[in-house]
Amino acid sequence: ATPILEVKDLKKHFPVRKGLLRRTVGQVHAVDGISFSIGEGETLGLVGESGCGKSTAGRAVLRLIEPTAGSVRMAGQDITHLPKKALRPYRRQMQIVFQDPFSSLNPRMTVGDIVGEPLFVHGLAKARERREQVAALFERVGLRPAQMANYPHQFSGGQRQRIGIARALALGPKLIVGDEPVSALDVSIQAQVINLLQDLQRERRLSYLFISHNLAVVEHISHRIAVMYLGRIVEYADTRSIFVRPQHPYTEALLSAVPVPDPTVKRQKRILEGDVPSPVNPPAGCHFHTRCPYAKAHCKVEAPPLREIAPGHHVSCHLR
Ligand code: SF4
Ligand code: MG
Repeated sequence: ATPILEVKDLKKHFPVRKGLLRRTVGQVHAVDGISFSIGEGETLGLVGESGCGKSTAGRAVLRLIEPTAGSVRMAGQDITHLPKKALRPYRRQMQIVFQDPFSSLNPRMTVGDIVGEPLFVHGLAKARERREQVAALFERVGLRPAQMANYPHQFSGGQRQRIGIARALALGPKLIVGDEPVSALDVSIQAQVINLLQDLQRERRLSYLFISHNLAVVEHISHRIAVMYLGRIVEYADTRSIFVRPQHPYTEALLSAVPVPDPTVKRQKRILEGDVPSPVNPPAGCHFHTRCPYAKAHCKVEAPPLREIAPGHHVSCHLR
């Protein structure tokens, strides 16, 4: 089957400007050549520390920012260079849910208008129809239609995220990019929102690109996981393989920070030392060599390619 989303060698570089004349003094390699695909009804978790480029990747996929290089295919159609007007029908199929339900909802609009706005913008429903559709969406995400007349500040964080999800659903999308959609919520609320997303996925064959810095959160919802480090994907496999047989030292380190529920499973503690290096001048060779406990001289010179070491399991490390 054709994947809903197919991303190839995607890059997003930003110029770094300095001084009065705003001279370009360098390039931030925020996303530095990543490839992945997402099937219908599938969730791909995109994981990494803050600053690794995952949010930028999510936005470039949706063309909320323009990619520097590479290609994005949506349901088989290359949308990378589609002009705005031709992009419109694809925009309807791809929606985003942001991390912060406190700042992503317009405080001066009623939540009913917020959820109905995409229908209005795309001219898809007259006022009355729109109200009915919005009411149905409210019920579907676990809110009462009577709450449509209220304003965002009258809702809790979890409820606001439900409003964000209802808005994303309004146009009947095929793909939803969730950029840390539960990270701002209490742990008990996180589980409820993830359950809602999973129910909606089953009901509507939705595909998710689920972006998070938290592997434990991603484990529950993802079928496959891509681990990002400094703009590149270092490991890409099905969720079970990532958790049971992690092959990249960075994935290992991230996993060592995840609590193990089964006390018979021993996981070697390997706490990451140091900060993520700057993406302005990323280290040569393997980007991870400045923090990798196994780094050899060779790693500082040559970048390891992403290789398939077992069916569907891709790793970028000279040791594998
Ligand atoms: Fe570590 Fe070298 Fe593998 Fe990079 S290529 S992760 S530095 S062992
Ligand atoms: Mg981010």
